[in-house]
Amino acid sequence: MATKQKVDAVIVGMGWTGAIMAKELTDAGLNVVVLERGPDRSTQPDFAYPRVVDELEGSVHRKFLQGLAQETVTIRHSADQVAAPYRQIGSFKPGTGVGGAGTHWSGCHFRALPEDFSLRSNVVQRYGRNFIPEEMTIQDFPVTYEDLEPHFDHFEYVCGTSGRGGVIKGTRQEGGNPFEGSRSRDFPLGPNPDYLGAELFYKAAGEAGYHPFPIPASNASGPYVNPYGCQIGKCNFCGFCSDYGCLNYSKASPNICILPVLRQRKNFELRTHAQVLRVNLDDTKTRATGVTYLDGEGREVEQPADIVLLCAFQLYNVHLMLLSGIGTPYDPVSNTGTVGRNYSYQNLNRVVLFFDEEVQANPFIGIGGGGVTFDDLNGNQLDNGKAGFVGGGIIWARQPGAGPIRGINVPKGTPGWGSDWKKAVKESFRHNFYYEVQGACMSYRQHYLDLDPTYKDGFGRPLLRMTFNWHPNEVKAAQFLVGKAVDMCKTLNPKTISAESKEPGAKYNTTQYQSTHTCGGAIMGADPKTSALNRYLQSWDVHNVFAPGANAFPQNNGYNPTGMVGALAYWSAKAIREQYVKNPGPLVQA
Ligand SMILES: Cc1cc2nc3c(=O)[nH]c(=O)nc-3n(C[C@H](O)[C@H](O)[C@H](O)COP(=O)(O)OP(=O)(O)OC[C@H]3O[C@@H](n4cnc5c(N)ncnc54)[C@H](O)[C@@H]3O)c2cc1C
Ligand code: SF4
Repeated sequence: MATKQKVDAVIVGMGWTGAIMAKELTDAGLNVVVLERGPDRSTQPDFAYPRVVDELEGSVHRKFLQGLAQETVTIRHSADQVAAPYRQIGSFKPGTGVGGAGTHWSGCHFRALPEDFSLRSNVVQRYGRNFIPEEMTIQDFPVTYEDLEPHFDHFEYVCGTSGRGGVIKGTRQEGGNPFEGSRSRDFPLGPNPDYLGAELFYKAAGEAGYHPFPIPASNASGPYVNPYGCQIGKCNFCGFCSDYGCLNYSKASPNICILPVLRQRKNFELRTHAQVLRVNLDDTKTRATGVTYLDGEGREVEQPADIVLLCAFQLYNVHLMLLSGIGTPYDPVSNTGTVGRNYSYQNLNRVVLFFDEEVQANPFIGIGGGGVTFDDLNGNQLDNGKAGFVGGGIIWARQPGAGPIRGINVPKGTPGWGSDWKKAVKESFRHNFYYEVQGACMSYRQHYLDLDPTYKDGFGRPLLRMTFNWHPNEVKAAQFLVGKAVDMCKTLNPKTISAESKEPGAKYNTTQYQSTHTCGGAIMGADPKTSALNRYLQSWDVHNVFAPGANAFPQNNGYNPTGMVGALAYWSAKAIREQYVKNPGPLVQA
């Protein structure tokens, strides 16, 4: 096996967290190598017009997503089942290649609410300990909104996020989210224009007494230069946003917002087609010595390093920790161990509104992250005691672009083929909007990640196994939020409304897309008995391993995760630069 020269830091994965970490650590003068399993990708030539606007290639054949033949996960609903491999992209869409899922994401860019950080204490204080079901393992984050505010802000400025601040330096602002945590300044760009469905949503939400505001979107509403000097262009609503790289330098991605700077640096090296197999530990098992990877020729290579950063996406961070013996695997029977614990997801449901021909929805026009939402049923605005479940959610109007293959909505009861289907498509395609209901997802003792005892990947390693199903708490939440969405939409007088909500007994369906907001498995916490990482995303067990990503969330809130993922990466990088590099060792004493 070839051994490379030792570096200060090796980063596994070149998505959002990998790019942030590489920028911050090279700023501090460290020599950094990034190992990315997929190919290199840039706007030119990979996302260039007209080639990229191909729904068959991008959204059906999943050109930019992780291929599942070499590496995937297995999934089951409960511990008494045999898990089956996730062989076709369905419920979630992991990325591969430079930029990771940060190239084909949509761009909705939220901050968590202040109360999301202390969920467990907050629920206990408001509704009493008994309100939390026994098997629900929600925890407080070991950081606060105030700790992360500068990092939320910086990440928004790196991304050119377009929105309208609702509370700036403690003062409410007209048209923004009145319930958000106080921000130090407004978004770098104002909101994107509204499409018709968003205008109607404003009307319906306003009439229902809610407080609608523009979704913070990392899809630029105007030309912009970020703090690193990277240029971003105005979004043209091309409609090929989620699932695709942006043709227009408008959707924030590691590729356009950070890599142009990194690629100039002598202390930065990016190796693509480099599949990391494991993190290597010394004999004490408390220090990593580097990683072993397969290069593009299939040769095993060792990369020694003083610091190892796992930036491989939530699922693969947990996988690498389990494969490498970093921390103790979680055991749901004894409720001990930490790696794999508190897996959670997102609770996505939707409502489709069909109108007459005079309502020109034109859903082929679209922008991934833009639109409108409200927080009146999220965080402390919702009376969970009355609603009867833990966690809240948002309802939003979002139109990422409907293609002719996968973007067709027809009213419930329409046959799946034949002349009646064609007639319904003709009548509906240009005259429907969908409004999504995106809810929080709690963590439970029985939902976890571990190594599959049966299936191996193409490299001979056990696959990651996911044990997950919908809990009655999330079914109740879905029904409540979808009910509110339907009530609100009736004021718009659509011809029909198709509401899709989870029903009691609903099983997790891996074939239907439900967001790539997979969370937990290597969570951050204040107690090493119930968390794999400390408040700086540093492994409690192996002090020179850090694992930024949504794996750190003890449970998921009602928002999309990446605003929080980016802020946590900046927070962790600051601790590495300012504390760890000077004095390597645990940053928090167990
Ligand atoms: C279709 C879609 C829409 C989305 N929309 C939104 C949205 O609107 N808002 C939002 O907040 N979030 C959204 N997300 C989620 C968002 O993309 C992720 O939260 C974000 O990209 C996570 O960053 P990351 O650095 O953890 O992982 P990624 O950005 O995925 O990067 C991980 C990288 O690690 C590499 N890697 C993995 N394993 C290895 C290995 N063993 N060796 C070497 N390299 C490895 C991968 O190839 C990948 O490039 C969306 C995701 C998808 C797929
Ligand atoms: S909709 Fe806008 S941000 Fe999205 S891919 Fe098209 S131009 Fe880029």
